[in-house]
Amino acid sequence: MTIFEHILEKIKEYDTIIIHRHMKPDPDALGSQAGLKEIILANFPDKKVLATGFDEPSLAWLTQMDSVQDEDYQSALVIIVDTANRPRIDDKRYGQGAFQIKIDHHPDEDQYGDISLVDTSASSASEIIADFALSHQLKLSDSAARLLYAGIVGDTGRFLYPATSAKTLAIASELRKYDFDFATMVRQMDSFPYKVAKLQAYVFDHLEIDAHGAARVTLTQDLMKKYELTDAETSAIVGSPGKIDSVEAWGIFVEQPDGHYRVRLRSKRVFINEIAKNHHGGGHPLASGANSYSLDENEDIYKELQEALI
Ligand code: AMP
Repeated sequence: MTIFEHILEKIKEYDTIIIHRHMKPDPDALGSQAGLKEIILANFPDKKVLATGFDEPSLAWLTQMDSVQDEDYQSALVIIVDTANRPRIDDKRYGQGAFQIKIDHHPDEDQYGDISLVDTSASSASEIIADFALSHQLKLSDSAARLLYAGIVGDTGRFLYPATSAKTLAIASELRKYDFDFATMVRQMDSFPYKVAKLQAYVFDHLEIDAHGAARVTLTQDLMKKYELTDAETSAIVGSPGKIDSVEAWGIFVEQPDGHYRVRLRSKRVFINEIAKNHHGGGHPLASGANSYSLDENEDIYKELQEALI
């Protein structure tokens, strides 16, 4: 039995299925979570399928969460998508179900789940979920196709990043056959409020770039208050330094309300996930997140980034 068949068997076996994903969700986290929910409901309409986690306001246009009660976990199948490690799972009740499945595309730093499907060659968790449905002749609704397409577009940077494979494009092509307004959706994903445009100008203006293409910028709480921005809203500018031809790898140091820094690391070629792992984080080889607890640690992270490019 393949791992997909094993997962399908478990979905058939349970009447209640609760789907989790990572904290601070992005379109892939929400798209794979809600897309899987839609697929299960389209094929097994009698099941109770719930999506749980914080409702991220800036992504409310994509999907919204269900209200999940503690009792729902009794005899439930819990599926966790797009989340490499347990501390990052949104809604800590994930351990309260009867059976647990992990479906992810990040390096497998923390093995968990009674079944674990980790495919680091997939561009996104949404690609894996779409592959699961398409390769097992499961019914896909238009809204499931929309959600999964959004997840793939989000995690590939609109088919820009190297994780975009022939398989990614083939799956995206299948999803585009369904009836949803992809142009409006992709435009929405590529748009940001005027205040974020101002932040983008700030980032370009204050970016420090060394001779080897290591770049950094710090966004303080004062700055975010001035521009009236939340941490989630800053995600729209994380890719911006990469548009500069001389930039190879970069760190965006975002001060959090408690004083520590969320460090968003990106690279065009050189792997930077080991740097993230050294500083309370992890992620993909070219897109990782770290946490820094002092200005000195910010300096250390930038030095490590500079050294990686020498
Ligand atoms: P971000 O900069 O938050 O968009 O994160 C980029 C990538 O790194 C995503 O794939 C995250 O899942 C991963 N990541 C971010 N923060 C962490 C963390 N603290 N621990 C492990 N992985 C992380």
